[in-house]
Amino acid sequence: MLLKNEVQAVPTVHTIRGPLDTAELGPTLMHEHLVLKSPGIAKNWPERYDHEAAIQRATEKLQQLAELGIRSLVDNPRRIFEQQGSY
Ligand SMILES: [Zn+2]
Repeated sequence: MLLKNEVQAVPTVHTIRGPLDTAELGPTLMHEHLVLKSPGIAKNWPERYDHEAAIQRATEKLQQLAELGIRSLVDNPRRIFEQQGSY
């Protein structure tokens, strides 16, 4: 049982690549949004959202982060966009 404000270390975290030993995480960005798509903007101004370009920008940024030593991040998809199938 944890007491208030007591932290319990966990040996692994679940990642998109499967369980990972937390000792291997390294510096971790804890709240990122790699690609966001607003359904309203995409519907009303489709010319303003280029999914392939967004993926390319995200890939380039991830490569830059890797060069800086970042190996882990937590991507926070916007639930409302997921529910609408637009994310
Ligand atoms: Zn956020």
